[in-house]
Parts: sequence; C-alpha cells; structure tokens
Amino acid sequence: MTKEFNKVVLSIHAHPDDAEAWNAGVLKLLKDKGYKIVIATLTGGDLGGCNMSMEETARVRFEEAKKAAAVLDAEYYTLGGIDGFLFDTKELRLKVISLIRSVRAGIIFTHLPSDYHSDHRTTANIVETAAMVSSLDTVPVKEKPVDITPLLYHSSPLTLSDPLGSQIVPPHFFVDVTSVIETKKKMLGCHISQIELMQHMHKMDDFFGFVAEGNRNYGKMVGVEYAEVYWQHLGGGFQKEPQVQNDLSEFLINKKLWL
Ligand SMILES: [Zn+2]
Repeated sequence: MTKEFNKVVLSIHAHPDDAEAWNAGVLKLLKDKGYKIVIATLTGGDLGGCNMSMEETARVRFEEAKKAAAVLDAEYYTLGGIDGFLFDTKELRLKVISLIRSVRAGIIFTHLPSDYHSDHRTTANIVETAAMVSSLDTVPVKEKPVDITPLLYHSSPLTLSDPLGSQIVPPHFFVDVTSVIETKKKMLGCHISQIELMQHMHKMDDFFGFVAEGNRNYGKMVGVEYAEVYWQHLGGGFQKEPQVQNDLSEFLINKKLWL
C-alpha cells in the first residue's frame, strides 16, 4: 500500500540561515508542487552577530529569518535553544514534537548526523528522536499526534566529508535547483548580518557567493548548473517512501541511488 504523507514540509535546522543555505532550492520546488513550507530553528543564532549582544543578535536574526521565510509564504519558528550551547534536552525534544504536531508535518528536513557543526549534529539527533515519536499518544504534549511518522530527510553539510575529513555516504539524490537559484539567493540574501560575521570569523568576503559556489560544485558533479544534495533517513522506525523524490522527479539526478 502506498502511503501518502501530508504535504507540509518542516525544514528544521540549528540556526537562522541554515535552511536557506542548504535546503531553500528544494523548499521552493516543493512549494511550487503545492506543499506548505514551515521553517524552524532550534536556536536564535544568538552568537552570530558582530558588535551586538546575544539578545540583540537573536532579535536581528529573527527578523531576517522571518523575511526569508516570507519569500516562500512560510511560517518561521525558533525554539529557544542557545547558539553554540545547544544540548539535546527533554524540553527541546518536546518542543520539536509539539511543532511537528501543530503544523502537521508530513516531511521533515534537518541536518546530517555527521555534519561539521556541533549544533547541527545535536539538532539532527533531537529532530530524529522527536520525529520518531511524533505519532505516539503517550508523549506528554498537548498537540494531537500526527497520523504517521513523518518522512525524514537530511540536508547537505558544506562538503561530502565528515568532520575528520573522511568521505561520507554519497548523497541519496541530487536535485537540480538551477531554475530556482534566484529564489534561493533572495532568501539567503535576507541574512544580511551574516556577511559581516563571515568576514570576521572566516575572512570570507562573499558569504552568499560561497553558498552558491557550493551548489555549483554539487551541480558540476551531476552535469547541471546548481544542485542541492540530500539523504533520506532510512533507519529503523522511519517510513521509507520516496515521496519527495517522486514529487520532484523531473529535477532529480542519480535516481539509481534511491533505496
Ligand atoms: Zn548552522
């Protein structure tokens, strides 16, 4: 029996700008296929500011994230974790479960478990655990359980290697995002505060260009101009229907890698 998953996508990552950097192309393509998009971050990106307090930074970044989400008519939520000090807590897991339930997510995107950033790895763990129990009656949150465990997908880290430089599992699929790259750039471009931060942290003069270059490099691997890369979570406890792959089939590359 083919299962249908609710056409609501929850893109939930650690920091404001993560969804825009790693996931926005596919979010736009799914929106165009009739999906509703919800963007959330576990932290407010509190540490990611220059010459601002953490509170002020979180305020600025909230507005930037809201603006970026609005490009896709998406709602934006931030769940109160602290940037750089993100821990896997019961409180955060419950908040994620509540959010999955309140938006009735059928599809979830989050970081890869072997991502380069500790907050990203923690987020991947919290989201995976929360998604797995989001359909259970026994979880102590007030929102009604979802009907079925959502499909879980992982978005790209900066490179296809783990934090120690070893190659990771090849992406399960690439998505050609050339047709929506301008939307992605527009969303990322809302995070103006990050230009100065990246200059300060990494002496990087063109943060937005750096992300586009990453998509261009992924594109080169599969012969298109710009691509994003994804993995479907295939661990026990999760549904394995390739709904996103099917709905974006005309943009998909490396179909042979589907499981
Ligand atoms: Zn991040």
